[in-house]
Amino acid sequence: MVKIEALKAKSVRRAPDDLPSSLRNYIDYRKSGLSLNHIVGCPLDCGYCVRHLFDNFAMKRPHLIVDDEIAVEQLVRHWAFRADTTPIQIFNRATDPFLPGVKTHLFRTLEALDSRGFRNPVLVITRWKIEPTDVERLEALTNLKLTILVTWSGIDDERIEPVSSAIAEGSLEVLASSASRVKKILYWRPIISGLNDTAEHFAAARRLAEFADATVFTGLFYREEIRSYFREAGVPDLYSDIARRKILPREAEGRVLEYFEGRPIFRKTSCGVAFSHGIADFNGHFGISEICDICPETQCKICEKHHQKPDLEAVLSLARLVSLVDLDGIEVSDCRVEVNGSTEAQRYFMQHALNFQVHDRAQPHRKHRHGRAEIGWE
Ligand code: SF4
Repeated sequence: MVKIEALKAKSVRRAPDDLPSSLRNYIDYRKSGLSLNHIVGCPLDCGYCVRHLFDNFAMKRPHLIVDDEIAVEQLVRHWAFRADTTPIQIFNRATDPFLPGVKTHLFRTLEALDSRGFRNPVLVITRWKIEPTDVERLEALTNLKLTILVTWSGIDDERIEPVSSAIAEGSLEVLASSASRVKKILYWRPIISGLNDTAEHFAAARRLAEFADATVFTGLFYREEIRSYFREAGVPDLYSDIARRKILPREAEGRVLEYFEGRPIFRKTSCGVAFSHGIADFNGHFGISEICDICPETQCKICEKHHQKPDLEAVLSLARLVSLVDLDGIEVSDCRVEVNGSTEAQRYFMQHALNFQVHDRAQPHRKHRHGRAEIGWE
């Protein structure tokens, strides 16, 4: 159940000293860029939340690890931060940025970055209430390329998702009526076969998409910790097995695309962001051409223009910068760079710096899988 007391809190507490290091390190590098998470704790209790993996699901009240100014200073001094280029995410790992109490810190953090003149893409993901006054404050930013991604699933089983989807619907409507500089995305997830993939769910998503600049759809992150949580809550297993990548079976994807014929819909978050702002995809997915088969032609042209195979020297120089060990194992093809023994931070930093896909051979990307789990595609 949603913890009402924690939701009412207008301010956040200081984080305890014994916070695990996985959370105390509040900046990390992910596929959507540098992720800043100096508040942890959330009362919303979405059963599939990644906080299960950080051993943080029990913390229902948001806690502040450091003040916003310190967090921003650390972010812009981070070895991977590049002015105007590095994508940034704020409060996307361990809380919801629009919770009462948390949103004050969201605004301060955005304003501190914006006032320094940075024009980086910034992604903010929420499923909570956005008020017209919130949008007014966000619209006043002048430099950052801000996108709000509103998570919506249409799931009404409270054991899986106690927060009503009507809240996200209201937030999208508010954004649609008052945001112009700020872009908004219907973040349709997790789509789970047999649970929220009926014709009614699809029709509702299609109606909601009218409020957004773009729709991004994806499946369920189903790791061992998340399956165990659902089992304890009495939910029958959602899939036959767990997986490292998100699960979205081929058949479900096919029906989604049929329903959205003629609407801007994307498999990848960064593609939805790119389309909303009329810029090239910062993850360089254009090299993986089957991902782009649903993309509007105007957007394909933008990505094509910016898609350039990097020369090996440029790749090696970035690889040295991130201390990649196996420099001899680097290969550059027309669609991607392949490396060995990389961490996510090393790989994604190179990817964003090059605007070109960087894959590790240990985690092969199979054609037409779009980076998803094998379940439902075998
Ligand atoms: S052209 Fe391809 S890479 Fe670019 S936004 Fe569209 S789907 Fe993404």
